[in-house]
Amino acid sequence: MPTSTTLTGRAGYLDHSLDSKVVLPADERFDQARLAWNLAVDQRPAAVVFPESAADVAAAVRYAAQRGLRVAAQGTGHNAGPLGPLAHTLLVRTDKMRGIWIDPQARTARVEAGVVWLDVVQAAAQHGLAALAGSSPNVGVTGYTLGGGLSFLGRKYGLAASNVQAIDVVTADGTLVRADRDHEPDLFWALRGGGGSFGVVTALEFALFPITQAYAGVLWYPIGRGSEVLHAWAELTRGSVPDELTTVGRFVNFPPIPQIPEPIRGQSFVIVEAYHLDDPAQADQLLGPLRALGPVNDTIATVPVPALSHLHMDPEQPVPGKGDGMMIDQLPSEAIDAFVQAAGAHAAFPLTTVELRHLGGELARPRPHNGALSSLEGQYLVFAAGSTPLPELTALVTAQVEAVKRALVPWAARQMYLNFAETRHPAAPFWTAHAYQRLRQIKANVDPGDIIRSNHPIPPAAR
Ligand SMILES: Cc1cc2nc3c(=O)[nH]c(=O)nc-3n(C[C@H](O)[C@H](O)[C@H](O)COP(=O)(O)OP(=O)(O)OC[C@H]3O[C@@H](n4cnc5c(N)ncnc54)[C@H](O)[C@@H]3O)c2cc1C
Repeated sequence: MPTSTTLTGRAGYLDHSLDSKVVLPADERFDQARLAWNLAVDQRPAAVVFPESAADVAAAVRYAAQRGLRVAAQGTGHNAGPLGPLAHTLLVRTDKMRGIWIDPQARTARVEAGVVWLDVVQAAAQHGLAALAGSSPNVGVTGYTLGGGLSFLGRKYGLAASNVQAIDVVTADGTLVRADRDHEPDLFWALRGGGGSFGVVTALEFALFPITQAYAGVLWYPIGRGSEVLHAWAELTRGSVPDELTTVGRFVNFPPIPQIPEPIRGQSFVIVEAYHLDDPAQADQLLGPLRALGPVNDTIATVPVPALSHLHMDPEQPVPGKGDGMMIDQLPSEAIDAFVQAAGAHAAFPLTTVELRHLGGELARPRPHNGALSSLEGQYLVFAAGSTPLPELTALVTAQVEAVKRALVPWAARQMYLNFAETRHPAAPFWTAHAYQRLRQIKANVDPGDIIRSNHPIPPAAR
């Protein structure tokens, strides 16, 4: 394997199209180029390349092959944690590939690999359309969709991956192919929920939905009321909830930093978020018992769809942090008690967020035309995370994330959700056993040398 030094020495062999787009370790731009959105991840690749087109991506894959390097694609670095050491790896950063095309008649979007969700949400809204974006405005569309894509509209419309119509991808041999139902159907299936092991995606095409507004917002309570609020929330989710309503039960501990608005800075709450796509009266009826508990603030109102990208209050700038998730089959009372004890007012350490997202609905229906991640088997998703601006916080946050997960093990689902796995996990539980075997076979067909590195890698099947 070449070292960074030999790479620098061989710079004369660069494809001319990439000349100014490769950043080597000796370059003064290198420290900026290797930054992930999660600032806690210290990425040290052999080189970083910033392609501006699909042709550049193909040239970058050839560039890596000529030098015996592996290839890791990265949009933002939101989930860079599990990637591991990047020595002997070319990091392909797609930040500069930001084209968006909306077809209002067909209700579709075509986006380049480096696009982040808020840009699509806003472009689609100009045509009265909504995309299956997640909670964060600046998560990358590509990484999110390859991992499945859990939106607050997902109980109604399913995973983002299930609504993809075509994907352009450069495979390990440097070939640009279009994968859709009629072309490269195996690859198309694998890319929809199988993660980033199959090539470097250059563009995606997916469905949009004719929605302009939602009835959505947050019920806020003092953190000390965690038990009664989350018991009432769990009761709501156990009933007959229409697919149009998605709720989240959550503890939040806002750090005392200027980026947090004054009224909530440094404060702790238990909150319930609601996202509803039908008549507000229906949601009001379902949320009645939670409102009867007397929230200190109730922001639920009819809002334009782009407002949903900020409602969950995810950080909108890069931050250092540690987090992890798991899925839960059922939430009986004992599970809520365990959750409140581990994550509530008396938690051993206050994490920024510890949340329970209600799944089910269309997310749980495995349709034959869906991809590798056909459905989410668990009824709830847990995600716990804390920021680590000081090195000494890393161990505390990591231990607390693990403590929350441990408390919920008795109710854990078999399946794990790739996008919310921010540490290295065995890959098999992300899919059904059959899907995992098929993914390994497809990986062996398209990338037998395991050149393409994903944050949650799938090993090629043995031949
Ligand atoms: C604050 C926050 C909020 C989140 N909210 C949600 C949510 O609501 N719903 C949800 O489902 N997930 C959510 N996530 C998880 C998120 O979807 C994953 O972290 C996802 O991997 C991010 O994609 P990215 O491209 O931004 O990240 P990156 O770290 O850049 O990419 C992650 C992986 O995706 C693959 N990848 C990225 N680009 C390419 C490419 N061009 N070609 C091939 N592979 C590629 C690679 O394997 C890469 O390692 C959230 C994460 C955070 C930190």
